[in-house]
Amino acid sequence: MMTYEEWFMKQGNLHAEVMKKLEDKTTDEVIEYFEFDNMVKNEPDFCPLYKDNKKCHDMEDLNCYLCACPNFRFKMDGFEKQDGKTLFSVCNIKSVDGAQYIGDDYIHQNCSGCTVPHSAKYIKKNFNRNWFDVMKNVRS
Ligand code: SF4
Repeated sequence: MMTYEEWFMKQGNLHAEVMKKLEDKTTDEVIEYFEFDNMVKNEPDFCPLYKDNKKCHDMEDLNCYLCACPNFRFKMDGFEKQDGKTLFSVCNIKSVDGAQYIGDDYIHQNCSGCTVPHSAKYIKKNFNRNWFDVMKNVRS
């Protein structure tokens, strides 16, 4: 299984590869390019779910520009213990739609019910062509 750190680097590099093709595009055009339907067609390697035409979140206008989420925080060694379990990731804005995966000795943030970073409006507000800059606080 991939670690947070491996996933983070891989996703940032994939994002940068796509952005190389969009250097002459406007912000709106870039955001439009990252719409799920277009990404499935033109960037099959960007997400493992694309090959099955599957969305990570059940929303009509799913946009993949901010995958992951700038509000996600992870720490490879864990932040702290909660009820004897190690807390590895949290939501920095405590989204009401966030949840937790709780295992025998671990807790991970569960974003499957949250659509915060996937709307074009949110992406435009937080727009930055450099994914590693937008995500600069994700690694703790
Ligand atoms: S719960 Fe929502 S806002 Fe919080 S880190 Fe997950 S996707 Fe981002």
